[in-house]
Amino acid sequence: MQKKITLKCANCDHQTPYQLKLGNCPECGGDWLDPLYNPNETRDIWLKELSTRPNTMWRYWELLPLLNRQNIVSMGEGYTPLFLLSNLGLMLGYPNIYLKDERQGPTSSFKDRQASLAISVFKESDIKEAVVASTGNVAISYSAYSARAGIKLWAFLTSTVSQDKMRETTLYGTEVIKVTDTYDKTKAVAAQFARRKKIFLDKGVKNIAAKESMKTVAFEIAEQLGLALSARQPGKFVAPDWYIQSVSGGLGPVGVWKGFQELKAMGFIDKMPKLAHIQAEGCAPMVNSFRAGLEEAENVLDPQTLIATVATGSPGAVYPHLRNIALNYGGHMEAVSDGDAFRAMHVMAQMEGVSMEPAAAIAVAGFFKMVKQKLIQPDEVVVINCSGHTFPVEKHLLDERRVHALDPLTDRLDPGAGEGVLTALDKLDGRVKSVAIIEDDPGAARLLRRILQAKGNYNILEANNGVTGLELIKNERPDLVLLDLMMPYLDGFGLLELMKADENLAHIPVIVVTAKELTAQEKGQLSGRVEALLQKGTFMEDDLLGDILDALE
Ligand SMILES: *Cc1c(COP(=O)(O)O)cnc(C)c1O
Ligand SMILES: [Zn+2]
Repeated sequence: MQKKITLKCANCDHQTPYQLKLGNCPECGGDWLDPLYNPNETRDIWLKELSTRPNTMWRYWELLPLLNRQNIVSMGEGYTPLFLLSNLGLMLGYPNIYLKDERQGPTSSFKDRQASLAISVFKESDIKEAVVASTGNVAISYSAYSARAGIKLWAFLTSTVSQDKMRETTLYGTEVIKVTDTYDKTKAVAAQFARRKKIFLDKGVKNIAAKESMKTVAFEIAEQLGLALSARQPGKFVAPDWYIQSVSGGLGPVGVWKGFQELKAMGFIDKMPKLAHIQAEGCAPMVNSFRAGLEEAENVLDPQTLIATVATGSPGAVYPHLRNIALNYGGHMEAVSDGDAFRAMHVMAQMEGVSMEPAAAIAVAGFFKMVKQKLIQPDEVVVINCSGHTFPVEKHLLDERRVHALDPLTDRLDPGAGEGVLTALDKLDGRVKSVAIIEDDPGAARLLRRILQAKGNYNILEANNGVTGLELIKNERPDLVLLDLMMPYLDGFGLLELMKADENLAHIPVIVVTAKELTAQEKGQLSGRVEALLQKGTFMEDDLLGDILDALE
């Protein structure tokens, strides 16, 4: 069946039939055009077929602006995993935080959706050569898909894009032009080049295919949440309470919003999510303008962030659009420092096993900030877009402290001790501090162990009740005790009492980690006898670690 798509102008509402290369509204010249499809027909088809379709973004074919399936350029993009961040959930007391893992696309960022659809449209329009401006990931992804489609690509990159990303782009056979200026200037240079050479220019967020591709993020989230939160029923979709993304030009949220709108129009979901847009402090035109109550964005002319991927200084028409959504439906705009993003990147890798690039970690850092401000409630369902994978590029951000160099020849200090490697390991062990975790909840114990393991070379001892805990402390004399209060047999108060009464144990510092709301009397019982008191489910890794390091000093 032939698809019927109509384009609607956002400026004057004029409707025209879908023409692939149509750039502007024939009525008013406006350049924001939105395709309209057939929601009723699509709903019926999806209810019948969706669950048996292949797991790529092309399963949502009916709502994508391509006319002929033969033009699809695909490498299995989309339908990336959506999974629960359970360690983070335990740490913060937020059990419903999901990660949409866009690293698992063909070139490891969510730009693969955009590239797959845009290059398919290029192919259908018989475009053989194209120009694109990029902060890195679009260039890589467009290059890969262009290579498959036999399209020659010119990529204009800001000079702040890392060498590794440039190298990756050239690997696909793309012509890379490095522009020593801001991203906005780079876009202008690319446009000029395309005009002069009469080569097709990809208009980024104004490219219809680019915007439409990001709808598939929303379709997948709702479909996957439906599967995760309810028993399998065809057509059971669920919208999250929050969708959180690191934002540069804002293509992602624009598309994601339209995707949820289409799902709502088809009756698949009954509410819209709130969108949270997180930007890097050094280049946050949308956040700053939103806070100042401006209707149009005030551009950032001189971005001050190391995270080149998100350094769009002039958001144009995207800002008023996203602002209206935030004002009418709830939602938030937040900025985080580069340092916050790097810290969030480490937390995600060490606590959840997810290596994300700093640009993507901005979203996680923003989430932390929103939790601290209580903008997100513990029972809300949150989806964070993990928009891209870290590359070796980020090596300067990773600390080398965990790499222990061992040289068996020079480390053979004590000939009597035998193996040089073992001797060297012994030397490492000598400096290890031991920490006892006395905790009966296995989830909490695992989390505490994980935080310690991730942060240093500690000898970790564990007991799951007060009685065996006291035995352990007596036998091992740890440098620090992390103590739960509510435990069977002998609770934390009792254990503390016995420790303080024993002159051999009284000096060992204790940090109490508890889920219990303490009465004034209980607080009095602990006061002066513990180094710190941490509330379970509210402590962030940094607070806990700071207290541990202080206690071990
Ligand atoms: C492009 C990109 C962003 C920003 O996305 P927009 O929706 O265009 O603002 C964030 N993170 C990564 C990894 C990206 O590649
Ligand atoms: Zn118009």
